Amino acid sequence: MQNSLIVAIDGPSGVGKSTLSKMLAERLGYINIDTGAMYRTVALALDRQAVSPDDVAQVSALLDTLDITFIRSGHGEKVLLNGDDVSEQIRTPEVSRLTPIVAAIPRVREAMVDRQRRMGKNGGVVLEGRDIGTVVFPQAEVKLFMVASAEERGRRRFLELQQKGVTVDLQETVREVEARDRADSERSHSPLVKADDAVEIDTTGLSIEQVLERMLDVVRSRNTNRV
Ligand code: C5P
Repeated sequence: MQNSLIVAIDGPSGVGKSTLSKMLAERLGYINIDTGAMYRTVALALDRQAVSPDDVAQVSALLDTLDITFIRSGHGEKVLLNGDDVSEQIRTPEVSRLTPIVAAIPRVREAMVDRQRRMGKNGGVVLEGRDIGTVVFPQAEVKLFMVASAEERGRRRFLELQQKGVTVDLQETVREVEARDRADSERSHSPLVKADDAVEIDTTGLSIEQVLERMLDVVRSRNTNRV
């Protein structure tokens, strides 16, 4: 029985993918690949070099020079851009706003998908993003599609920001979540859609532990080895 599966986790912003993918990978002893962090890192690099997303030639040239790596650090992981730790910088509101624009550039997607396939091809990986089960690994043994209402995702984001001492408006946060959903769902190249064979998990009203249990149930159903 195969025990080095490819686990694809897709879903919209703020649904809890990052937290749960990390927890799931840890439980399975798998590597976790946060593909959103890769697109964020490209956006940061373009911003730093003042390259316009419309300038295809410059975007292509920059992509060839980018070295994006993940390294483990305690329970989490760090993202390195050409050796520099950019884990914090890729989470700023500016980079969050720029990333969907950069992620819609076909050349950027091709380059990232290619890297993701090379990182995941031997299995034993949890990849989380928007197009993992549909484009990156349509043959993944486990496909999960996480959803939660925009209100719930906006509320979670609001609480997260409040805890960090950032003053924001709840309704405004919900509207931002909805705007990002639209940008990710309506783009022509690799829009966010559920793969036909993905198992949908609605996390609205569930605790993190309850969601993790549901995810593990799906993995167990694909793998007779105990996890
Ligand atoms: O997952 P996260 O919110 O960090 O992703 C940031 C952005 O990167 C998303 O809003 C989306 O535009 C883009 N993305 C993508 N495809 C992926 C992962 C992320 O287009 N596989």
